[in-house]
Formats: sequence, structure tokens, C-alpha cells
Amino acid sequence: MKVSQVLDALDFIAPPYLKYGNDPTGLLIGDPEAEVTSLAVALDVTTAVVQAAKERQAQMIIAHHPLIYHPLKSLRMDAAFPAPVALECARQSIAVACAHTNWDIAPGGVNDVLAHRLELQDVRPLHITDREPLVKIAVYITPEYHDVIFDAMSVAGAGEIASSKYDRCGFWSTGKGTFRALPGATPFVGAVGRQETASEERLEMICSEGRFPAVIAAMRKAHPYEEVAYDVYPLRNTGSEFGLGRVGVLPEAMTPDDFLRHVRKGLDYDAVRMGGPQTRMVKMVAVGGGACAEFAPDAIAAGADAYVTSDVRHHEFVDAAERGLLLLDAGHSATETPGTEELARRLASSLPSLAVSFHAPDGDTRNEYA
Ligand SMILES: [Zn+2]
Repeated sequence: MKVSQVLDALDFIAPPYLKYGNDPTGLLIGDPEAEVTSLAVALDVTTAVVQAAKERQAQMIIAHHPLIYHPLKSLRMDAAFPAPVALECARQSIAVACAHTNWDIAPGGVNDVLAHRLELQDVRPLHITDREPLVKIAVYITPEYHDVIFDAMSVAGAGEIASSKYDRCGFWSTGKGTFRALPGATPFVGAVGRQETASEERLEMICSEGRFPAVIAAMRKAHPYEEVAYDVYPLRNTGSEFGLGRVGVLPEAMTPDDFLRHVRKGLDYDAVRMGGPQTRMVKMVAVGGGACAEFAPDAIAAGADAYVTSDVRHHEFVDAAERGLLLLDAGHSATETPGTEELARRLASSLPSLAVSFHAPDGDTRNEYA
């Protein structure tokens, strides 16, 4: 398969339109037309990860953190990271792509996996970044293509309702379509030069604006007509709320010490640091994978008793404690590795012909997906 096909699968799992600000996403190094048979996934593109990719003959690396975050002024082997690593990938023809904040924000991504590891329930976004614009697509179809078109549009992402509790939603109506094919046309029914009237169905499906190009492409590919008739309506109602971090409730309230043990166990990481009021029971919990201490005010506003994130500085601990929030620094890697492993799992299941492996920062192969 081609690099561009892996990127299509990545975009479906972690839609680029969800990214926060000007965050780099997608292909950073390489040729979209190059062939891929083996893919390595990691939190960071380190020298060791590139070495592991070479040993596995992987032609592509997908990382959570962008290898090139700030513009590079040179590509010298004697420069500081990341130039030598980027240059080595280019030399070895290893394509490098990333899914950073779009995978933090995406449903099922870094923050959902983190919330799941801590057994949170009734989970919702912590810091809203986007309210999904919606469109309504209406397409006219000959009745024998009813299922084909509906399936193609559903698989591409149309018909999902914002609550995520329903998918494959659509509405059918029947009627008469009329047209006249002009010379040069090859109509699916009827003859050139004659006014035709045919029984048709109109399928209406709701769709997020982000999925819309893929849905239209899939619908057109499956549609038998030479000229497909369809309408697209922008809607005033909005879809799901997306955001960084998550907030949810524990199955049972815990003391701060029990919660600290719960976090250590859930993330399999002992060096968790905790600050703040040691007397408050913990029931509502906010999480922010990676360096998200800046969203502590969102955690307080959401009514969280505790907030689990990473890279917390001294004055942020002091500030949170003054506001009555229990703040836990559970390590950047420990809060994001489970979600990055989930990305590898999802890529492997949507690209079954690809050998996918997941690597620790030291290059160690943690998991292989055939
Ligand atoms: Zn991170």
C-alpha cells in the first residue's frame, strides 16, 4: 500500500480538522506515493525508534509528537535534535507522520484512553475546542442502488448522530426524477434526446463537515449515474463537542491517598506527584494527557476534585492547592503512551495488510500487530 493510504486511515481515526491551533499534523517527511508494508508507531521519533524501524524494515513511522514542530533552519547531522533524526529518516526513505492534538482531542484518543485507564464514567471533554458543524446531504438514487449508496455513505462517516449512540441514520423518500440527456451523454436509464421520468429515491443523511469530503467521494464512487444529483445543506444545529482533556466520575469516592494509588496502578507508573488538599474526597476527576496544567481552571469550573496531567511546575501546584484542587503529575509519557498504543491498535485493525509495531522511546518493541 502507499503512504497516502496509511495517511487516509490516520485521518479517519484522528481527523486533522480537530487539531488545536497551528499544530503540525499528517505527513512531515517522505513521499505520499512510496510503498509501505511495515509501519512503526511511537510516542516520539527518537534515534532509537528510527533504528528499530530500520531493523524491522518499516518504511513509515507514525508518532504522537511531531518530529518537526518548529521550522528547521538546517538539516545537519551535527545539529541538535530533531535535525539529525529527520535527515536520517529522509536518507533511509522512512516516511514520518504525526497525529498530535487531533489524536488528543479525537473520540477514543489519548484523553479517552487516559480516562478509561482511571475507570472514569460519564466522560465529557474538559476544555472545549470545537463544536462540530454539520451538513445535510440529500442524494437522488435509482431504487436498486438503495443499499449500495447508503452503505458507502455510512462507512465514510455520514449518518452518525452527535450522541455517538446511533449510527447509520438516514431518511428515505420516493418520487419521480426527470431529465433529458443531451448528445454526448451516456444516461444510466433512458435515451439521448428524450425527456425521461424515472422512479427515484431521495436519501438524506446528516454528516459532520469534517467527514463531508470523504462522504461525497464515497457516494460518487458508488453511484451509477453519469451526473450524480445531490444537494448539500449547511445546518444551524451543531454536532458533538470536542476538546482537550476529559472529566468524569469515579465509580466510588476515594481518599486522596487511595486515588494516588489508583492512578499509579492505572497508568503503571510509580513516580506520580500529588499536591493540594489532602482531606477532600475524590469523586469527580479531570484528566489532561501530556502538559495540560494550564487547563486546571477548567477542571475547577467543571467541579473536579482532582486533576491528573503532567509536567506540572511548582507554582502550578501552589495555585491549584490555593483553589482547593488536588493536582497530580502522572508523567508526560505515562499519560500519553496508552493512547499512542491505542492509535497503533486502530491503525493495525483498519490496515490489516500492514505489519504494525509499537515502540517505547528506547526503540524497544512493546507490541506487534500482524
Ligand atoms: Zn505530549
